[in-house]
Amino acid sequence: MASYIKDYVEVNKYTRPDLKLLGVKGIVIHWTATPNASAKNERNYFNGTCIAEKRYASAHIFVDRKEARLIIPLDEVAYHANDKPSKIAKFKATASYYKGGNANLTTIGVEMCVEKNGTIHADTIARAEKVVAELCKQFKLTEKDIYRHYDITGKNCPTPFVSDSSKFTSFKAGVKKLLGSKSTGSKTSTASKSSDSSKKMVIVKAAQLYTYNSADWNDKGLIVKKGEAFTIKRELTVKGSKMYQLKSGLYITANTKYVSVK
Ligand SMILES: [Zn+2]
Repeated sequence: MASYIKDYVEVNKYTRPDLKLLGVKGIVIHWTATPNASAKNERNYFNGTCIAEKRYASAHIFVDRKEARLIIPLDEVAYHANDKPSKIAKFKATASYYKGGNANLTTIGVEMCVEKNGTIHADTIARAEKVVAELCKQFKLTEKDIYRHYDITGKNCPTPFVSDSSKFTSFKAGVKKLLGSKSTGSKTSTASKSSDSSKKMVIVKAAQLYTYNSADWNDKGLIVKKGEAFTIKRELTVKGSKMYQLKSGLYITANTKYVSVK
């Protein structure tokens, strides 16, 4: 059984433009920023008021504590992540029918609903993990293909996952768990060892260690484990401390207390 119900909005130029996605290369996580609005409320907004107010906006799936609603078919564009051009190279895209559509042409948008008190309920997050895991399976993606709206355009969305990026890390870990052990964060990196032996490797000494999604100590990514090795692309200094950019694109501390190099 699908983790969501289908409840499509009518085709219209503001919220469901009836444009084809070029493919699904990632999932983008949002929050609605509207306290006390359920998935059904959101669906009705994007089928009514949003159109009446001539606002270009939407997303594919809305998730609340009790249910998830798919309001735009998964092969169609929703207007959710192109308020600025994509910062992630793989989502840059254009089509004759949607010039510079970027992440809107290449991703699916999943919105988490917000409680009366402005927080996202744990049940909403758990349901969103299930929905996203199902999408990952369908489109042959892994937890590494999940991004915050913030990662794509810099928008402060979903705010609780931006102000505390460990919440996003645990969201991805939750999806990974649902997907089984098929995909691991280190697989591609260790595989690159033999093909790129001229490059220096960093080896994790600590039992567990955060990686970072960008050259920013606050932008925590997946956790790696003792003994895992990664190819170093370059060394850089961020706020007075050294970090390595890895060939995989992730960043890791260069502090010899936590890692060694060979
Ligand atoms: Zn958003």
